Amino acid sequence: MPEGRNNDGPVTESAQFPVHSAIHSRSGDADEWHRSLAAAIRDPDELIDELELPDRFRQPARRAADLFPLMVPRSFLSRMQKENADDPLLKQVLPLDAEFDEVSGFLPDALEEDRFRPAPGLLQKYTGRALLIATGACAVHCRYCFRRHYPYGNEPRRLSDWEPALEAISADRSLHEILLSGGDPLMLTDQRLRSLFERLGNITHLRRLRIHTRLPIVLPDRVSDSFLQLLHSTRLTPIVVVHANHPGEVMADCADALRRLVRSGVTVLNQAVLLRGINDDDDTQAELCERLVDLGVIPYYLHQLDRVAGTAHFEVSEENGRAIIAELRQRLPGYAVPQFVREVPGGEFKEPLS
Ligand SMILES: *Cc1c(COP(=O)(O)O)cnc(C)c1O
Ligand code: SF4
Repeated sequence: MPEGRNNDGPVTESAQFPVHSAIHSRSGDADEWHRSLAAAIRDPDELIDELELPDRFRQPARRAADLFPLMVPRSFLSRMQKENADDPLLKQVLPLDAEFDEVSGFLPDALEEDRFRPAPGLLQKYTGRALLIATGACAVHCRYCFRRHYPYGNEPRRLSDWEPALEAISADRSLHEILLSGGDPLMLTDQRLRSLFERLGNITHLRRLRIHTRLPIVLPDRVSDSFLQLLHSTRLTPIVVVHANHPGEVMADCADALRRLVRSGVTVLNQAVLLRGINDDDDTQAELCERLVDLGVIPYYLHQLDRVAGTAHFEVSEENGRAIIAELRQRLPGYAVPQFVREVPGGEFKEPLS
């Protein structure tokens, strides 16, 4: 487990942040997501009990959870089917023995991200935009995650630790957009986000603020009215990129949260990862895209899996991915078809595969 991960609650560390007294008075809905996060399942046996899965899943789940801890919010759990070990949502989060397989080409740092750091916590690979690792924490632990081996312990943890990254952004006038990523930046409390938004908003050459987050999908309570207000309080144009892989994720309270985000006036995009046995067929991808556009969310990227150690069992061939995209082009409006891409170390953009 990466040292910097904090799975026990929202990332506050407010003692180190300048907190305005007004922000201290939390509305009821802000408390609600904190409670939902605290109630997330972290024990493999509890997950197996809740879903009434066969006992043979217990040992492997406990073992693999030692590599990368299990974490599943109850809202996400409620969209899974009981007694179904093949449930496409479950397969994204259930620890398996296959994670111990050593497969050539699957490495701890597949993206060689260490090479692109102007400052701690800042990654700049592409022109005009840079990515700030806001926190290492997530509300769900996706077993295929390319950051499962990420050294989050080395990233900034206090406001003062951000200074070099903020200075590097201020000094580089070619940057127009900052991406908040992680981990999941919406694991930060609204007051920490507000401090960060204010600091970024004061950098005059920045125009847009993009938030890459899976919380609206797995912990929809996070899309509170106070968060929406905060999102629209910055001078920067906000863009939210969510991460759903299967149409079964985009249901119920998650669909409501996405609708609220879209209706608040923010551009919402989705990125998905192509995953074996989860979404590697035409019908699933077509239904995912249709459901997203019905909610006003534009399918942005379909990612070829990054070849990270412990995730080989999720890989789908690029050829299959291309065939799915070709089929989507026939079935769906052009705007509903995501770009199928993969990340290439040293590339100037995400490489289109179709
Ligand atoms: C993916 C990524 C981006 C965003 O790329 P877009 O094509 O603009 O979505 C930016 N910086 C880094 C380091 C990335 O990995
Ligand atoms: S939410 Fe994103 S960063 Fe977090 S574990 Fe899942 S894929 Fe990885």
